[in-house]
Amino acid sequence: MINPNEALEQSIQPRLKNKVAIISGGGSGIGKASAMLMARHGAKVCLFDRTLDNANEVRDAIKAAGGEATVFRTDISVADNVEESYKEALKAYGRLDIVFANAGINGVMTSIEHMEVDDWQKTVDINLRGTFLTVKYAIPHLKESGGSILINSSINGNRVFSNIGFSAYSSTKAGQVAFMKMAALELARYKIRVNAICPGAIETSIDENTFKKPELKEVQIPVQYPEGDQPLAHKSGSAEQVAQLALFLASSDSSHITGTEIYIDGAESLIHG
Ligand code: NAD
Repeated sequence: MINPNEALEQSIQPRLKNKVAIISGGGSGIGKASAMLMARHGAKVCLFDRTLDNANEVRDAIKAAGGEATVFRTDISVADNVEESYKEALKAYGRLDIVFANAGINGVMTSIEHMEVDDWQKTVDINLRGTFLTVKYAIPHLKESGGSILINSSINGNRVFSNIGFSAYSSTKAGQVAFMKMAALELARYKIRVNAICPGAIETSIDENTFKKPELKEVQIPVQYPEGDQPLAHKSGSAEQVAQLALFLASSDSSHITGTEIYIDGAESLIHG
């Protein structure tokens, strides 16, 4: 006789069985947590990352847990590199179903007046051009049988404009959401869904790619939240919480959702907005 609890457990199906997922920036933070969760749900995971050591560790962890993953060294801001990685991934797995355009940097945080043109460009190249390239080169493969594209944007540039110094970052994050909506409409004919995730502060390694310049102090507006700016949890969110949203948007559980940005911030953006 089956114990009812066991029967329930057995009835939980992996949600991405036989699917192939590409995750940019899969070696760290939100990308890593999403790769691990999607692999647990049966997806074969392709990690597109420029930092090989971290990505290799994620691949090894997925394989050790009985999943399937491969690393493709990719700088998402370099067109040939992205196109080549897709070709290699298709050679390895034969199909493509899910693309998580997640890799990004905070970049230089400073006043607009003191922002070096090259620093502005670097943030745009990785966050916005990189998203475009990650989506563009996926389309010929996703057109075969439809799929789901997720773009990792932010509350910054969409609901929050008070993080002074983040002019480049916020512009790319707003651009990603506009691009997501354009892509959702254009690609609906191929049954490709496109959505964006807009996280608030999430505990990851992104601060290692944040460079605050001293001139920032000149333009910062002091605002205090005596009870903190995290109304729900009183702390930053976790990469694993964002991964749960990525899993939902990647799976057929969200089959009628496209062209939408979803905030995951414990109401942080409402207190700032
Ligand atoms: P992270 O620094 O922990 O991970 C980023 C990953 O992207 C790393 O593995 C890095 O090697 C990779 N990467 C960076 N540039 C790359 C490039 N040019 N080509 C390929 N890979 C590259 O950061 P995270 O917090 O997990 O950030 C992931 C995404 O989430 C970013 O787009 C970020 O803007 C967004 N986001 C993060 C937060 C947060 O608080 N952590 C909040 C809102 C949005």
